[in-house]
Amino acid sequence: PLDPSSDAAIAASVTPRPIAEVADALGIPADALYRYGPYKAKVALDFITEIETRPRGHLVLVTAINPTPAGEGKTTTTIGLGDALARLGTRAAVCLREPSLGPVFGAKGGATGGGRAQIIPMQDINLHFTGDLHAITAAHNLLSALIDNHIHWGNGLDLDARRISWRRVMDLNDRVLRHVTVGLGGPGNGFPREDGFDITVASEVMAILCLATDLADLEERLSRMVIGQTRGRRLVTAEELGGVGAMVALLRDAFQPNLVQTMEGTPAFVHGGPFANIAHGCNSVMATKAALGLADVVVTEAGFGADLGAEKFLDIKCRQAGLAPSAAVVVATVRALKMHGGVSLKELGTPDPHAVTRGCANLKRHVENLEKFGLPVVVALNHFTSDTPEETQAVRATLAPLGVGVHVCGHWAKGGAGAEDLARAVLELVARPSTFHTLYPDQMPLTAKIETIARQIYRAARVDITPAAARKLHEYEIAGFGDLPVCMAKTQYSFSADPAARNAPEGHVLPVREVRLSAGAGFVVALAGDIMTMPGLPSAPAAEQIFVMPDGFIAGLS
Ligand code: ADP
Ligand code: MG
Repeated sequence: PLDPSSDAAIAASVTPRPIAEVADALGIPADALYRYGPYKAKVALDFITEIETRPRGHLVLVTAINPTPAGEGKTTTTIGLGDALARLGTRAAVCLREPSLGPVFGAKGGATGGGRAQIIPMQDINLHFTGDLHAITAAHNLLSALIDNHIHWGNGLDLDARRISWRRVMDLNDRVLRHVTVGLGGPGNGFPREDGFDITVASEVMAILCLATDLADLEERLSRMVIGQTRGRRLVTAEELGGVGAMVALLRDAFQPNLVQTMEGTPAFVHGGPFANIAHGCNSVMATKAALGLADVVVTEAGFGADLGAEKFLDIKCRQAGLAPSAAVVVATVRALKMHGGVSLKELGTPDPHAVTRGCANLKRHVENLEKFGLPVVVALNHFTSDTPEETQAVRATLAPLGVGVHVCGHWAKGGAGAEDLARAVLELVARPSTFHTLYPDQMPLTAKIETIARQIYRAARVDITPAAARKLHEYEIAGFGDLPVCMAKTQYSFSADPAARNAPEGHVLPVREVRLSAGAGFVVALAGDIMTMPGLPSAPAAEQIFVMPDGFIAGLS
């Protein structure tokens, strides 16, 4: 039987508007809408180019404090705020990432919000949706196949089979595929070499799909991707393998943004979903640009806490796409603040306003950091039924001296009606003239960029870069990649590289163990710690709870 309090059942309790009606209300003409059944559609690229000259709406970023493993509610707040703005009569839209099957069947579950703040049809969006992730998987693996085929047929490029950095991908969590040997079985099966799989959302193709501004830019970026080295250590690009045109062909439809709606009928662009560690972690530029051309206020989410998610949204996506956000919303929860205040995960249900006050140091620092980008900030306290009035008051009292508004939000329980105070505060902030700027200029050397982020955002005393990584950074500078932004890959649980260092640590040393070039996506990844690019499944995976009911309804997704 279907649990009536489950996200799937709540989502099914509303009748969606036909997607053509949602599109029409936004001003998308019928011939620019490619429908995938009654409730999903893609928006034509030509139309998005056509509206680019229109005045843009305001872009509002939803970000968060350093979370507990459960997540603090950025997606639900993005949806709830969008619905609240619409309730107040604003022409609003939300922009979100599309879910990956890894977390859907693993520990975290889907990515369509929760309670009364969800995007629908949630089963479709969480599973195959419009096939974008499959298209990305195919395009990525086509290049992998071309690489091994090139070696098989004589290796004209003199590729060093031991130094191929282009791996294979699949959109599932499957730890046994992290390291594999390919080409076994004799001469007819190619040359054996070590290889491995990443999850599709970790593919550079995904990051590129999310940052490209038109089909030509998509092709140029794919061409620039570095796939490995020759025996003489020259970097080899995808262009040299000769299959980039075919990759673009596989991606053409996937590159068009998807349109769905929230449970309250607010338009939702759900497109692209790059990893938030080795990539930048936000939805596609195409979707954001489409939304900004059609709505007056666009609410969007960046993955992880603000130290990673917001910094990369602002320094990578906004920099590359020329976007200037008008305001940032920092989501906090009483439970996560208590955790930062020293309470163990098991004890988070017990009221403790003093721990909340201590943990507010984490929230305050994120607020200060966002102000360094010239962004006005408001705090959304995502309300859980277990929160006490004393705990909520502790947050207000601690933030009051900063002049930052704190709004208790009940969208998870009540939908948009629960986030109207937040929506009013956001409307006030976006009415001010924008003072947004990136944290560092393009021309700053790569090492100085890493140091700037580490000092200004993480409050580290210094950065400790391994000699091998420093040598690579130097090589990237010489090869002309010095103007790229850096993409930090760090734990989301702490300002530092140590996930156990909660709250507001300072004076720590940020270790940079490895750097990687994503020449197509247009950033240099700096890895501060071990970053998993093919997650594993937990001992009790969410897959065990998912089933199809006799009438075809898919239950167990959340
Ligand atoms: P994030 O985007 O920050 O990772 P989500 O919005 O996806 O977080 O929320 C994480 C999980 O917590 C979801 O399963 C969501 O349904 C649940 N959740 C969010 N807000 C609340 C709330 N106020 N009360 C109960 N559960 C919530
Ligand atoms: Mg989310």
